[in-house]
Amino acid sequence: MARIVMKFGGTSVADIGRIRNVARHVKREVDAGHEVAVVVSAMAGKTNELVSWVQEASKAEGTNFNIYDAREYDAIVASGEQVTSGLLALVLQSMGVNARSWQGWQIPIRTDNAHGAARIAEIDGSFLIKRFEEGQVAVVSGFQGLAPDNRIATLGRGGSDTSAVAIAAAVKADRCDIYTDVDGVYTTDPRVEPKARRLSKISFEEMLELASLGAKVLQVRSVELAMVHKVRTFVRSSFDDPDAPGMGDFDNPPGTLICEEDEIVEQQVVTGIAYAKDEAQISLRRVADRPGVAAGIFGPLAEAGINVDMIVQNISEDGSRTDMTFTVSSGDVDKALAVLEKGRATIGFDAVQHDEGMSKISVIGIGMRSHAGVAATAFNALAEKGINILAITTSEIKISILIDGSYTELAVRTLHSVYGLDKQ
Ligand code: ADP
Ligand code: ASP
Ligand code: MG
Repeated sequence: MARIVMKFGGTSVADIGRIRNVARHVKREVDAGHEVAVVVSAMAGKTNELVSWVQEASKAEGTNFNIYDAREYDAIVASGEQVTSGLLALVLQSMGVNARSWQGWQIPIRTDNAHGAARIAEIDGSFLIKRFEEGQVAVVSGFQGLAPDNRIATLGRGGSDTSAVAIAAAVKADRCDIYTDVDGVYTTDPRVEPKARRLSKISFEEMLELASLGAKVLQVRSVELAMVHKVRTFVRSSFDDPDAPGMGDFDNPPGTLICEEDEIVEQQVVTGIAYAKDEAQISLRRVADRPGVAAGIFGPLAEAGINVDMIVQNISEDGSRTDMTFTVSSGDVDKALAVLEKGRATIGFDAVQHDEGMSKISVIGIGMRSHAGVAATAFNALAEKGINILAITTSEIKISILIDGSYTELAVRTLHSVYGLDKQ
């Protein structure tokens, strides 16, 4: 007997038929004698709809402003998961499985106070372990918890993955299965490159890079938690026939295992390609080149909660002035420009320019640590396709390249092929 946390994403619970299919996956594991807790997302599209209602309701008449109380946002958008946890519990009961729904506040899953993007602070595993002892399948609403102000908090988009991994860590589960609409983690988004291959294993570190650089198959925070707490995490498909041969294989279920680096025998130089659309570039022209200028620019941006990503600095020939270029996500451009304008006198720059609609393409692989020339290969391949590189950043296991967004798909496919990742 083992202990398994099973998480089902939005498309997997999109209607009652799919919820029935999900219930068959759950029943399979229960019938095999395992202790099972389930985490569910809202039905596909539901969270987006709730977010759009929040925006509509909070718009002051005659304006375009969208400032709202994040605590009410949380109360509203967390409701999608409440519906699916109840529905799945009902369907499981109709199949003879002892199940009930639990909301984040009932367990409780304690978070910090950062409403809208809260982090899980603590889950007392003994609550769910009691449910196992009672032979109950707890169906837990993902994406939500209880903040110190005694109000519902949500964990940021895609946060049900994080709920599942955090629960798996809290109950010391033998496995956390993330069921989604693809049958594993691919070398790149299979919707962009049909030649993408499914990986049987990927290291925590590479998965962390893939997720933070745009592959939304897992929320970044869920990978961090899996890495820290050594949760054996599988990404697998909910659309597979729940009773097909091998589906209940405990050690080797179909899907991708996220694991320690040394569990991977055949290590490639490049493991995957990720992309992030909707990047924007902001350039400050002719900034005085003196100590403290970078702090003067990026300090206030950070205080405003704006995430600055790639930074490029060009110093003028006489060394007195510098151009500072950096990227933020498109949604943050207006806020960033306002912050910069406000600090104009202190920072001291001549002009500010911005361009939206950029994409960041990233090449990821732990094999890069020991191989030279990986970046040069990317630059040559993109040059051959006539794709201009606007900015570059690198780390030990990744290279990120900023390009015009209209070339996103071409760039992803080009890099996927040049590193030999295409399916045979
Ligand atoms: P869920 O609703 O189950 O949480 P998501 O839509 O959040 O599912 O994540 C699954 C999607 O992630 C897939 O449909 C796929 O298009 C996308 N994706 C992006 N990059 C990858 C990748 N490298 N491997 C697998 N899927 C990826
Ligand atoms: N329903 C939430 C979202 O759409 C959480 C999740 O699906 O993981 O972001
Ligand atoms: Mg998701």
